[in-house]
Amino acid sequence: MTGRVFDVRSPADGSVLATLPVMGVEAVREAVARGRTAQEGWAERGAPSRAGVMRELARVMARRGDEIADTIRAETGKPRVEALAEVVVSADLVRYYARVAPRHLRTRRVGGGWLLSKAGWVDRDPLGVVGGITPWNYPFVLVMDCVTPALFAGNAVVLKPSELSPLSALLVPDLVDEAGVPRELVQVVTGDGSTGEALVESGVDRVVFTGSTATGRRVMSAAARTLTPVTLELGGKDPAIVLEDADLERAARGVVFGGFFNSGQTCISVERVYVVREVYEPFVARVAELARALRPGSGAGADVGPMISPAQMEVVEGQVADALARGARVLSGGTRSGADPGIFLPTVLVDVQDAMVVMSEESFGPLLPILAVADEAEAVARANASPYGLFASVWTGDRRRGLRVARQLRAGGVSVNDVLSHYSVPGLPMGGVGASGFGRRRGLEALDEMTRSRTLLADRGGVRREPYWFPYSPSSERLMKGALEWRGLGGVAGTAALLRRVLGGGN
Ligand code: NDP
Repeated sequence: MTGRVFDVRSPADGSVLATLPVMGVEAVREAVARGRTAQEGWAERGAPSRAGVMRELARVMARRGDEIADTIRAETGKPRVEALAEVVVSADLVRYYARVAPRHLRTRRVGGGWLLSKAGWVDRDPLGVVGGITPWNYPFVLVMDCVTPALFAGNAVVLKPSELSPLSALLVPDLVDEAGVPRELVQVVTGDGSTGEALVESGVDRVVFTGSTATGRRVMSAAARTLTPVTLELGGKDPAIVLEDADLERAARGVVFGGFFNSGQTCISVERVYVVREVYEPFVARVAELARALRPGSGAGADVGPMISPAQMEVVEGQVADALARGARVLSGGTRSGADPGIFLPTVLVDVQDAMVVMSEESFGPLLPILAVADEAEAVARANASPYGLFASVWTGDRRRGLRVARQLRAGGVSVNDVLSHYSVPGLPMGGVGASGFGRRRGLEALDEMTRSRTLLADRGGVRREPYWFPYSPSSERLMKGALEWRGLGGVAGTAALLRRVLGGGN
């Protein structure tokens, strides 16, 4: 311990919910060492046995769902429905891996290729100890996104949650223990950025980092010193493209949901909207109407809760001020709630331009800037003109057109006529391109990232010397040429060429 402590505060009323230690280098290393010891037995159990235990974790989440949701709500202020959604998505992920992980992690048989006398296998071995560093916006599900595939794959996890919302993560060791998973397989180290740094440098076998692009760069540069592999799930500036043939009511409702869910504090929230000019006016009018109808508050029945911190509020206020100074207009919101100054009202901005900060930098707040475009091609070009590439959505009456446009977008994932739900489908891997990071959580891809391959090769026996071993001779070269023709030409011609070389002699 460093002796330092920090307070966890309610964003709703500022009250202190807990005081926790800022854990230092030594405490982090001890946690990693404990995890390493516990992991050996867990890895030996094999994937089917681990999956059997893990299935119970979903039941524990169902039994303790209210308690988990209350904890999430207390430290983030988000509406109860949104807190419960984190638990639903986490339980679903456990069920998904219980079904697919044993099969995916099985040893794979591989043919010998041109070496006909060989047999090959690929095992997927656990990494050992995974270090998970998570942000404050989804304090339970983002932790479970790291813990779940890591445990199924046979690893231990040491977690460093955000200092703003560590209480949900602190429940996880208890939940896994209740499910029958050895407790020391999931440990939480509390603290600030210095604890995160200590975890990156602790000798863990992979760092799964979810957070801002700026911190992601620091994590990668620190991890480079020890060649620790990293998964980086970073920020986004997700575009929504509304085409002229869209169902405008669904598009407007979807964009409002995608922009203001969790007060816009979602990595895959809608952060900029491009609407084909033909339908711009009715679309914008409906979005503004729906945004004005949302109920801000921290109590039951509210739709949009508080910002997590004064710092996040300042970012959002700064972006709105910049947009207004450069000629944007506010159609709804634009300020803090008079009744509750911790809440920024759902804000719709029009007359926006690319040069405005709100169109280029992540807002991570309840801001929806909307821009008219001439056509689909302009929408795609503008959507792709961002260093970020996390998610996107396309709204159209023609699903095939939607999928075609989706494939032109530079993003880790694209929804057609939908938003956010993409993330909750456990088989869809989650991750970005460019400044949004690399590597994937969820899906089979996450199991691959949580394991390393061990390849095995065995000779089938029968010959005492391979024809290409020392000493080299003219027949060695003939054999190599024959092999090249056999594999290069393929088919009957290739086989005939090989036989000619081997049997017929000559060069
Ligand atoms: P930060 O990058 O500020 O923090 C993320 C985590 O990193 C926190 O636990 C933080 O600790 C820790 N940390 C801070 N400094 C260091 C360091 N030098 N080394 C190691 N760890 C460190 O992000 P936020 O918490 O503000 O989260 C918001 C960001 O996360 C947004 O950009 C959002 O887009 C992104 N995000 C991405 C997701 C994705 O899947 N792509 C999902 C959700 C969010 P502490 O908080 O205690 O300082």
